[in-house]
Amino acid sequence: MSRRAVIAGNWKMHNLQKEAAELTNGIMSELKEENKEALPEVIIAPTFTSLYAANKALKDCGCGKVRLAAQNCYFEEKGAFTGECSVQMLKDAGCEYIIIGHSERREYFGETDEMVNKKAKAILNEGLVPIICCGESLAQREAGVTDYHIASQITKALIGLTKEEVSKSIIAYEPIWAIGTGKTCDSAEANRVIGMIRKVVKGLYDETTGEAIRILYGGSVKPNTIKEQMAQSDIDGALVGGASLTADSFAQIVKGAM
Ligand code: PEP
Repeated sequence: MSRRAVIAGNWKMHNLQKEAAELTNGIMSELKEENKEALPEVIIAPTFTSLYAANKALKDCGCGKVRLAAQNCYFEEKGAFTGECSVQMLKDAGCEYIIIGHSERREYFGETDEMVNKKAKAILNEGLVPIICCGESLAQREAGVTDYHIASQITKALIGLTKEEVSKSIIAYEPIWAIGTGKTCDSAEANRVIGMIRKVVKGLYDETTGEAIRILYGGSVKPNTIKEQMAQSDIDGALVGGASLTADSFAQIVKGAM
């Protein structure tokens, strides 16, 4: 089965509205000569307050080459949840994808596997696509529990989801020690862990579902690493942090995945 590649840019807490619009326009300008069908699924994830500006830039361009994601959501539909944004609100803002379970949210904001699961369900119920992050710390890697930890995160994230829902979801394997550090995980090792995640999905569901789900690598992906990463059998794309903050480097990564 051939899976369409995905390149997603996680802008984290960067970019005011004007900067978000400029970066969105810059990315589209870098991609203007590329045939839409040949491109991977290109996703940008601005912070909440810049979603409007980025979405407006995407709509004004109308080329349909870049899609919008949020970096987080809350799983309840509405109510007294000060400071939170529901999936419906993010859909209304133009998002088609939502990143959940990022290690920074797990570490600094107490996001648990149970919350990731509730968020995944809420996202899929609204017809959006969850980008479910998982990854081990350096201490877990050194203790030899990487596979156990990742399998547990994924199993808990998918509880109660149907085959169809899982097939259209995206997982991002992001070793925490590789995020923002410049230390990329060796491509063969990233491919091994991602293959292991695919086996876990096959075990929980079936062969078809495991072959359908897209699994990305994230952790210091750069224009000069993407080709080798994309050449691996199980890596379907990348979740990119730092290198998604300039149009030139993000576009180079997108083109490297073609
Ligand atoms: C991320 O935050 O998802 C990430 C992969 O960041 P970076 O590319 O900067 O390591």
